[in-house]
Amino acid sequence: MPEFVPLCEKCGYVIESLPQDSDCPECGRPIASSLPEARIGSVWQAYRGPALARWIATADEICCRPSDVFVRIHIGDARDPALMRWSLLVASATLATVLTGAILLDPGARMSFAGKAALESLMWLTLLPTSLLVLRGLTWVEERGLRFFGRRQGFRITPAVAKSVCAHAAVGWALGALLGAVATIALHLLLFWPGDMASHIQTLHGGRPMPTWGADALGLAFGAGAALLWFETLAYIGMRKCRYANRGAGRGESGEGEAEAEIGAKSPSADPIQSPTPRNDPPEETP
Ligand SMILES: [Zn+2]
Repeated sequence: MPEFVPLCEKCGYVIESLPQDSDCPECGRPIASSLPEARIGSVWQAYRGPALARWIATADEICCRPSDVFVRIHIGDARDPALMRWSLLVASATLATVLTGAILLDPGARMSFAGKAALESLMWLTLLPTSLLVLRGLTWVEERGLRFFGRRQGFRITPAVAKSVCAHAAVGWALGALLGAVATIALHLLLFWPGDMASHIQTLHGGRPMPTWGADALGLAFGAGAALLWFETLAYIGMRKCRYANRGAGRGESGEGEAEAEIGAKSPSADPIQSPTPRNDPPEETP
């Protein structure tokens, strides 16, 4: 199916020549609700303002109402790559901080504070780009996967749809990593600090003292699992909600236009606050 032919978002019926105030002859969904203008964008796409604030608001809406968000996202929005970068950065920084923090807090490590700090900085600076690369790679594989499975299901998952869906699903990496960090801290508190449950477990079993990295390993494994599951679930919801999504005519005629548009979108930081309406004002549909 060609990328810019308008389809009914529910059933995929071609609605190009139908009046906008009518209903889909196939499934009865109002035509107007399937037009690209009906997709008003996620908070990230539709609002201007500080990137961190927009990322937090977007993560909140994706966490609480993922289905609603994927019904609203623009397809092929020039800001999607930046959303992905922010999500991968939050996820990777969280992971690197938890891992390096575990070394600093480990009472078993016989090292001077300066030695620990040096090792920690080195680890953090190695872990951050490694994690970024790995997560970006997995997200790229998912983009390919969505297109592959979409084709098999008879959906219209274009490269632009896969990119916009995965940019929003990547928030799941960050949410899972943050959950893993909370779990790691909770395990540390539970096992080693106020109640020192690790000593109780040790006396029960008569074994060796439990190392503090045990808590980190458990927390990290939990976080990695949660991040992968969260990302995959969001990508799946996104594929279902955008299976026949229509892309506004102003949002680039090919995937190549996105990189250029992205640079332009990043430079003006003093943009006025805008309501969540399509920014490019695509021309009226002429039936
Ligand atoms: Zn329909």
